Amino acid sequence: MMLLDGKIASQAVKESLKTTVHQLLMDGKPAPHLAAILVGTNGASETYVASKVKNCEEIGFRSSLIRMEESIEEALLLDKIYELNNDAAIDGILVQLPLPKHISEAKVIEAINPAKDVDGFHPISVGKLVQGLETFIPATPYGIMLMLEHFNIETKGKHAVVIGRSNIVGRPMSILLSSNLKHGNCTVTLCHSHTPNLKEICLQGDIIIAALGRPEFVKADMVKEGAVVIDVGITRVEDPTAKKGFRIKGDVAFDEVSTKASAITPVPGGVGLMTIAGLLKNTLQAYGLKAEGLGQKA
Ligand code: NAP
Repeated sequence: MMLLDGKIASQAVKESLKTTVHQLLMDGKPAPHLAAILVGTNGASETYVASKVKNCEEIGFRSSLIRMEESIEEALLLDKIYELNNDAAIDGILVQLPLPKHISEAKVIEAINPAKDVDGFHPISVGKLVQGLETFIPATPYGIMLMLEHFNIETKGKHAVVIGRSNIVGRPMSILLSSNLKHGNCTVTLCHSHTPNLKEICLQGDIIIAALGRPEFVKADMVKEGAVVIDVGITRVEDPTAKKGFRIKGDVAFDEVSTKASAITPVPGGVGLMTIAGLLKNTLQAYGLKAEGLGQKA
């Protein structure tokens, strides 16, 4: 069994980005600049944003963290986005999700200039992804593709079973794996909460991508011998014996599934780290678009 170690694969991406930034600075150019907006004080969101900012710093990107009150009016959040859209010093913009209930996520996502949409959630980015055009790929599926590439996992002609159809993970993942890409060309089955016979479908999967947010949902009896298993899930499960009062669990019962899988990602230390790698690569791409004069809102 091969452990698909996110630390190793993400470090390789980050080293390459670090070299690029070093070269930019040597040429007298500014480093790419990511702006992250965090609304409220949700514990998990705080952790994710802090990690994104820290990783930017590690590789020499600039980053700005903009905090807004949980009660912020939608209009004020949109104004901040328009301001960042028109700020030539900002290359990429992300708004950490989820947002408070009184704010429309769809409106917020659509407000971001598509040329700075480093999360790849804007309808224009998604449309381009579907058509196989160059675009920003949502960071988590992008990170998974980078991981498959790093560990040389063969995907061509394989049957990939994706569990979960969210806009940020499952659906774009199914599009990428079914695309005519080096690490694509799979036959994909996209499953969700209304899929009957999920176990039988999973048993046919050469590659399983579990992205449903149900701790240890995928058990050994759902996985065929030799399958590649990618665990996207991150759920905080209460545990009074843990220092923080909770433990992070993936969607796969790692101990039992790893005895059957040919390759598997750990949680933590797997896809989460690759998501950051995907985001950093998107930020560099946004920087490149700006250099081509496409980074400002028309
Ligand atoms: P989501 O928006 O809640 O979507 C969950 C999907 O799973 C839905 O499509 C849902 O089906 C499906 N589902 C739920 N229960 C199911 C069941 N019993 N059988 C089959 N399908 C089921 O979640 P998400 O945002 O995609 O995130 C999924 C997990 O990944 C979460 O744990 C999240 O924290 C984690 N995540 C991790 C990263 C990372 O970097 N590692 C990034 C993003 C998300 P319906 O559509 O029918 O409701």
